[in-house]
Amino acid sequence: MFYVSSSTRQIAKTGSKFPVLAIAVLALVFAFGLFFVGYDQGHLFSIVQGAEAFDDLYIHELTHDMRHAAGFPCH
Ligand SMILES: [Zn+2]
Repeated sequence: MFYVSSSTRQIAKTGSKFPVLAIAVLALVFAFGLFFVGYDQGHLFSIVQGAEAFDDLYIHELTHDMRHAAGFPCH
């Protein structure tokens, strides 16, 4: 004679409520975006273009309206 017993188990999983890794990644994206739009005056392109990048200001001109909307002074 066989007895079949069934039981259920509950597993409570506790963890951090804040996704620290996601927040860190988003903070890095935000910091790079802020640098890209607000402070880069040819610094990124100067890596490959040289000193001319500080005169051409491609990123500045590309994001000009966004810079004004964000409150960065430029002219
Ligand atoms: Zn402007």
